[in-house]
Amino acid sequence: MASGLTNVSLNTGRVMPIIGFGTFQIVGKGLIYRVIDAALASGYRSFDTAAVYGNEEDIGQALKELLPKYGLTRDDIFLTSKLAPNDHGKNSAERAARKSLSHLGVTYLDMYLVHWPGVAGIPMESSHNLKLRTETWNALSELYEKGILRGIGVSNYTVKHLEELFAHCKIKPAVNQVEFHPHFQQKELLKFCTTHGIHLQAYSSLGGSYNHSLVDDPVVTSIARKLGKGSAQVLLRWAVQQGVGVIPKSVTPNRIAENIKLNFSLSEEDMTALGSIKKVEKYAWNPARVA
Ligand code: NDP
Repeated sequence: MASGLTNVSLNTGRVMPIIGFGTFQIVGKGLIYRVIDAALASGYRSFDTAAVYGNEEDIGQALKELLPKYGLTRDDIFLTSKLAPNDHGKNSAERAARKSLSHLGVTYLDMYLVHWPGVAGIPMESSHNLKLRTETWNALSELYEKGILRGIGVSNYTVKHLEELFAHCKIKPAVNQVEFHPHFQQKELLKFCTTHGIHLQAYSSLGGSYNHSLVDDPVVTSIARKLGKGSAQVLLRWAVQQGVGVIPKSVTPNRIAENIKLNFSLSEEDMTALGSIKKVEKYAWNPARVA
């Protein structure tokens, strides 16, 4: 296995690689095949997709064709997908999960996340969001109990959304996947999730695809230069060293390989410098106003 690839223990009793591969905006059969091939060759064993990414079928097909090349089977891979914001509710949620299974060509998912606490087409402030996402959670809990979903979790949930979920849920979420990086540190949310046994998984660790201000942040670049590492490695290691999972996305083979090589340490001084960056910027969608 690639260096630096360790597992985190989830509250389900199962484990998940702390480094996974993000696939947002990777579309097209040929590109997906090449990228999954590069990711498997580099040592990634965990893949993150979502119904809304529109790439589940191509990822499923690529994995089916490529796993034998690496002497791997389905069971060696940790597969995560997500319920789309327009699939919330009692009737839609189970159908959505089964559709993702069918698109990926698998009989179970390792993790299935509620992508967003809000419901598509409903105002963010509406109390219907809570009603429908509660129905969603109950439907997913049943699929978890049947073993079709081997882990269930949430994404973009704030402390408020989690507290409301705790008030009624039979099954606690195993994962909360949120934007988390030195420009959006979410210290309170991390503490809350840790206290409640929920694994925090970071997305957009590199700032996403549309800007470079995180990889170009002077604190990040100076630590990277000092250590002889890339800025991306420093950003990813910063999360992993706090026990936070990462799912970097890249279509570039040398970056795919670089992003999983995180078996180095950031000194306490470097961690403090990164944790003290003053700039606050959120690069993806913001769930704070979702009722
Ligand atoms: P990332 O923060 O992973 O950044 C991706 C960008 O960084 C791409 O432009 C990529 O370029 C570039 N990049 C990758 N590696 C390097 C490197 N070593 N050095 C410099 N640049 C690099 O973006 P995402 O927003 O895609 O987040 C990661 C994953 O998280 C997603 O793919 C998705 O799976 C998940 N996600 C979940 C969300 C949610 O709401 N639950 C929201 C957003 C993301 P290139 O590809 O050209 O190499």
